[in-house]
Amino acid sequence: MVKCNRSSCSEQAVINVTAAYCKDHFIDYFESKAAATIKKYRLINKNDKIVVACSGGKDSTTVLYLLNKWFGNVTALAIDEGIPGYRNVTLEDLRSFCSRNKIPLKVLSYKDAFGFSLHEALKKVSVLPCNICGTLRRYLLNAAAKGFTKIATGHNLDDEAQSIMMNFMKGNLELAARLGPVTGVVMDGKFVPRIKPLYFCHEKEVAAYAFLQNFGIRFNECPHSRISFRAAVRDFLNDLEQQLPGTKQNIINNFLKLLPRLKKKYAAVADIAHCSSCGEPSSNELCKACVYVNSLKESAPTAAAAAAIAKF
Ligand code: SF4
Ligand SMILES: [Zn+2]
Ligand SMILES: [Zn+2]
Repeated sequence: MVKCNRSSCSEQAVINVTAAYCKDHFIDYFESKAAATIKKYRLINKNDKIVVACSGGKDSTTVLYLLNKWFGNVTALAIDEGIPGYRNVTLEDLRSFCSRNKIPLKVLSYKDAFGFSLHEALKKVSVLPCNICGTLRRYLLNAAAKGFTKIATGHNLDDEAQSIMMNFMKGNLELAARLGPVTGVVMDGKFVPRIKPLYFCHEKEVAAYAFLQNFGIRFNECPHSRISFRAAVRDFLNDLEQQLPGTKQNIINNFLKLLPRLKKKYAAVADIAHCSSCGEPSSNELCKACVYVNSLKESAPTAAAAAAIAKF
């Protein structure tokens, strides 16, 4: 039987990721880590208007809970991609959570914004689901977050280690420069900065926190997630972590040492153009979202997206 790591505590440990803790001391340890990240990287200031990008999963629900508890006045924003058997379930959990905690929730769907759900799109185009899904979600989140000063996301240490390795493996240093506890090198009035309060929290710790806090969410996984590059990198890093504990933390720590130089190097591209169709920031004439949408239907997303977003 493993005892809690805190001196003066004789309780039995319920979790042991980087250290063994009983329930109360684990909650204290976890919350202190998230609070320290917010403080160290100045993620939030008192005048911020925060929207939390929510999926109804453990990570974003944890961020929503913590920011609502610490700062109040947060709004939850969810994107319904249209993934039968998955997103409808997580959105049901999110609606209940927001209703119990009196948090305003806004839901925007691909169907309303673009005229097709992800399920319908994947019947027409042959692309990896996460490629089109991630592009369209980022587009909608950014568009729907106007009027807010920060978008908080549930990205945890495992997600970030995966993103760093994915960008390194693909040779995308410029994209790696946009990672970190605050996202983006591009200072454009149209980009709302993204903040990651769980940046230093392991995925297992977030899962344990959400479970112990009894958020009432089901821990299910998108059916498309297994066929992505991210899934391959995730499995690879999980194997390495088992053999060499601390691998993911080392990736993050060393990346953070490099990040200031990367940001400086790629700050020169900060003066980017805008999509000629929808007006969103884009380094090409047409943004990726418009390219996808144009290939799936005649019109660009601007009008439909604007109409859907205007319902807020
Ligand atoms: S796993 Fe891929 S397809 Fe599923 S919600 Fe995430 S980005 Fe979309
Ligand atoms: Zn304890
Ligand atoms: Zn566009």
